[in-house]
Amino acid sequence: GLTERLSGVFDRLSGRGVLGEKDIDEALREVRVALLEADVALPVVKDFIAKAKESATGEAVIRSIRPADQVVKIVYDGLVEMLGGEEAEGLKLALNPPSIILMAGLQGSGKTTTAAKLALRLTRTDRKKVLMASLDTRRPAAMEQLATLGKQIEVDTLPIVAGQSAVDIARRALQAAKLSGYDVLILDTAGRTTLDEQMMAEAAQIAQIAVPTETLLVADSLTGQDAVRTAKAFHERLPLTGLVLTRADGDGRGGAALSMRAVTGLPIKFLGAGEKVEALDVFDARRVAGRILGQGDVVALVEKAAADLDQAKAEAMAKKLAKGQFDLEMMADQLAQMERMGGMEGLMGMLPGVQKMKKQIAESGLNDKSIGRQRAIIGSMTKAERRKPDLLQASRKRRIAAGAGVDVAEVNRLLKQHRQMADAMKMMTRNGGAGLAKMAGM
Ligand code: GDP
Ligand code: MG
Repeated sequence: GLTERLSGVFDRLSGRGVLGEKDIDEALREVRVALLEADVALPVVKDFIAKAKESATGEAVIRSIRPADQVVKIVYDGLVEMLGGEEAEGLKLALNPPSIILMAGLQGSGKTTTAAKLALRLTRTDRKKVLMASLDTRRPAAMEQLATLGKQIEVDTLPIVAGQSAVDIARRALQAAKLSGYDVLILDTAGRTTLDEQMMAEAAQIAQIAVPTETLLVADSLTGQDAVRTAKAFHERLPLTGLVLTRADGDGRGGAALSMRAVTGLPIKFLGAGEKVEALDVFDARRVAGRILGQGDVVALVEKAAADLDQAKAEAMAKKLAKGQFDLEMMADQLAQMERMGGMEGLMGMLPGVQKMKKQIAESGLNDKSIGRQRAIIGSMTKAERRKPDLLQASRKRRIAAGAGVDVAEVNRLLKQHRQMADAMKMMTRNGGAGLAKMAGM
């Protein structure tokens, strides 16, 4: 796996403070090979490596984990981002029903199966009334296939009328969906085995008539680079809104997902994970990133190490607090730490049992936006003032405000926040420092 490869690169690294450029270059060479082996398209690999290098360079080494694992985590985070982030996109539905979902793609990519899978999800999970219609006039069996699937999942299909063109069927389906109050109409189109102009023209015409809420390209992830070419060609002719990758159950590598997303910029909405109508997964960037790297557990390990590091910092702070200390210097430390660790939420989440303080801080109006200015204010104070805020009379406040480029009112607000925080600390330490130390998990 990638970790083993990277270990070799990083064995020489121990003892240094940051990940060096040379080490990162070597490590990313290995990452590059891993991505190419996962069948990610070359331009996508190049682009990805450049971005990963940028975020890895100068990254502080976490002492409790191996640098190799740390790079895997950086690469993993990059992959998740490139795959569209942690938030799943899901299906968009129209404000005014019926929502129209148009399925496009090559023949055999899984359009008809996916249409039924989506219909099942929409009826069972979202309680929608769904109508499906097959516009595949080329293969008579295709319409029967959708009708059979419809019966199986108890979803209506448009009655088959022989001799109609795809465009005529689309019009009829639209009318039926409107008249009978369906929430969603799924249009399943015909595909060819290869890209051709006639198929594209027909799909484009149907899209023009139906004005779909979602136009999904269904692509077979096993076809790798071909799937990417297909996606590009369709995207040039159709206003696609998302991708569905089928046969993810047979694709151990996940590289097609990364390429398709990067090349088209379209969100991957679902993964087909088998022939059964239930086998449809909402796309999860984290799972696919783990699959590409082949190391879900390393990622978990690194995440834990990073959390441990933060925990150690939080505990050091808690130790001081346990002695009832909380001066402005500590507040400045804390603000700096908050910035490093992703703001208020991140820090507070790490201090177990500090609900009371959390609430008080929230009420005091301390937020991430103001953290920078607050640090500047404390930075403009003398050491003595930070240790003993009582020294801060009007003239000193004016000097500090000028130094930090803020109003005196803002200096006052900060001092008030500090007093509230210090009071909260005192309250918690009233029963002796041991209590707080225990609460902080020491
Ligand atoms: P269409 O021509 O694009 O409509 O493709 P179909 O929906 O008829 O699917 C073609 C074949 O692929 C069928 O045998 C399906 O059962 C199969 N298939 C579709 N999606 C998946 C999937 O996600 N995983 C697997 N293993 N097979 C699938
Ligand atoms: Mg079909």
